Amino acid sequence: MTGRVLLRHPSSLEHDTGAHPESPRRIQAIERALSELDWLGWDMRLSPAASREDVQAVHPARHVDRIEALAARGGGMIDMDTTVSTGSFGAALHAAGGAVAMVQALLGAEGAPAAASLHRPPGHHAKADRAMGFCLLNNVAIAAQHAVGEAGARRVLILDWDVHHGNGTNDIFAARDDVLFCSIHQSPLYPGTGAASDVGRGAGEGYTVNLPVPGGSGDAAFVSLVEHVVRPLARAYEPDLVLISAGYDAHADDPLAGCVVTDDGYGAMSASVRAMAEEAGAPLGIVLEGGYDLGALARGVAVTLGVVGARETPEVPVVAVHALAVQARERLARMHWPGLG
Ligand SMILES: [Zn+2]
Repeated sequence: MTGRVLLRHPSSLEHDTGAHPESPRRIQAIERALSELDWLGWDMRLSPAASREDVQAVHPARHVDRIEALAARGGGMIDMDTTVSTGSFGAALHAAGGAVAMVQALLGAEGAPAAASLHRPPGHHAKADRAMGFCLLNNVAIAAQHAVGEAGARRVLILDWDVHHGNGTNDIFAARDDVLFCSIHQSPLYPGTGAASDVGRGAGEGYTVNLPVPGGSGDAAFVSLVEHVVRPLARAYEPDLVLISAGYDAHADDPLAGCVVTDDGYGAMSASVRAMAEEAGAPLGIVLEGGYDLGALARGVAVTLGVVGARETPEVPVVAVHALAVQARERLARMHWPGLG
């Protein structure tokens, strides 16, 4: 049986952010929890550094050069939230490289059914030409671009369930129909983007699906939006690859946001995404984003890998169709997705 692949690299600990919620302790907490579970049987590999070619398929050279130069001269602040230290450029290259190696394991000759890239810094706020929101390089965007470029995928679906809108990924693929970007995020909240009315533009119109939820939202909203909106979208879109921008900061214990998702909620969302990938005959890749309560983060990653890696396909828990899911389906059916009506 083809194994499930977990990409990691110790350089994730060398991105020194000082007193900051996005700290090396996040990776240590995840790895401690997974090692106690014998890594859930996933095949652990060291991530290579991403090639300049893969990174620059998403980011202009000047963006990459700027981060490299700042790290080389000892680091500094890019904005109030986003720090570069001497180890940050190497950490960012391996975070992007892990995401690319994940895609190669999924779409290459190995044909792994699922893989995960567990690194920091996270990536989904990084725009093509701007680091922001703790993010330097957009790891999931680099992975998706590698998939539709070198790896020959026709269509990639990204589900971003981090509590913050993945504005970087949103913008990078806004005008494209070969990457369907779906984001569930608290609104209003940093970075202030991701309104339901942002549906992409040009050839990409309809291929950006923003699903904002109010603060206080929990399993009922998040799980229903995955199961009753994103899963039917995947049936209509027929992706060759499904990627999760997997943040765990919608958890009730998270200090940076106000949603109340539980460990079971992450399990249910994971089961729903696994089911949608299997329906599409597509492999599933998981790219770590945020999550700032160390316990909730470590448990959330373990729950996701447990559900995605289970030998038997887990049942998707039955969840009522949430009012936000009804509204989203009506909106999408009027625009580009008549099948969702
Ligand atoms: Zn976040």
